[in-house]
Amino acid sequence: MASAAGRSAEVPAVAPGASAWANTLPLDGRVYVAGHRGLVGSAIVRRLKAAGFTDILTAERAEVDLRDQVAVNNWFARHRPQYVFVVAGTVGGILANSTRPAEFIYDNMMIHATVVHAAYAHKAEKLLYLGSSCIYPRDCPQPIREDFLLTGPLEPTNAPYAIAKIAGIQLCQAYRRQYGCNFISAMPTNLYGPNDNFDLNSSHVLPALIRKFHDAKIARAGHATVWGSGRPRREFLHVDDLADCCLFLMNRYEADQHINVGTGIDLSIGELAQLVGRIVYPQARIEFDAAKPDGTPRKLLDVSALHRLGWRHGIDLEAGIASAYAWFLANGGASPATETRKPAAAKPAARKPARRNTAAAASEETAS
Ligand code: GDP
Repeated sequence: MASAAGRSAEVPAVAPGASAWANTLPLDGRVYVAGHRGLVGSAIVRRLKAAGFTDILTAERAEVDLRDQVAVNNWFARHRPQYVFVVAGTVGGILANSTRPAEFIYDNMMIHATVVHAAYAHKAEKLLYLGSSCIYPRDCPQPIREDFLLTGPLEPTNAPYAIAKIAGIQLCQAYRRQYGCNFISAMPTNLYGPNDNFDLNSSHVLPALIRKFHDAKIARAGHATVWGSGRPRREFLHVDDLADCCLFLMNRYEADQHINVGTGIDLSIGELAQLVGRIVYPQARIEFDAAKPDGTPRKLLDVSALHRLGWRHGIDLEAGIASAYAWFLANGGASPATETRKPAAAKPAARKPARRNTAAAASEETAS
């Protein structure tokens, strides 16, 4: 029924970035996307291709383990990237973060350090490091301003990941101050879109809800289960908006201060479940599993600094979820590759055959 229809579904186009701006970076510049297989990295590659970049560099994990400084240095010596997007790392949702904290802190601290150091050592012109909104204190005033960083205790379910991400910001600032490197940082809110991780053990809430309502529809279950109370509030940004913003920042932003990237709009997890339910399986009843953690009560970014720079998101949440669900269907209802051993493909990642992802892996990317 739905799955058969799904396989031939067209993925509706969504238009990222509501602000008109023009890329001024040289289109033949060597641009390295570290973490190109993941949700964010694959979106940045798509955005760079759409802009006309001709020398987009990517590295498979078989070629370079990004936790290995010598391997990363050698790769940089061979390829000499001029512009670097650091969107690699081990990522996952609330369950993966609380059950695999060692991987989350070790992999991320190592990857950020090796790539930032190699970019300095091999004289990259500019580097954009992507963090996560989970870096902010758990009980932060809302909306969260950039200068609230390190003003209070972190949310315990993802503190090891957050510490690694905070270290990444400080790395960029330290290399800027000591060596004059043009390294900048951006902190995106919760992301979703093509190439998301739909595995229920490691995913974030939005792809998890798409899969849960879809599976419930296929099984004619009549209900879908949502973790926690449904009361926590989150903000969601389509990854194609984020990719547009990353290229914008690579063009336009040069400062020590990290910058928030989001929509400035949040909703409760209960409201999100209703929205996903309306799109995927309107007949489903929503049940809450109070045994699962709620995590941070609210995470809404203050995006006024980004708006002042001249960038706003363009993809509305409902259209974005409909498009993400169409992608899920068109890609067999499974999650994307976390790693392959082949050279980087030229085709947009969203069209690649899906592979099941059972665990978040190094060289993925994004926010927690
Ligand atoms: P967080 O933003 O770091 O807390 O990460 P998540 O995206 O994993 O979770 C956000 C909120 O959604 C938390 O309150 C979760 O308990 C809630 N949630 C509800 N259902 C799900 C689900 O199926 N998977 C995940 N990951 N979170 C869920």
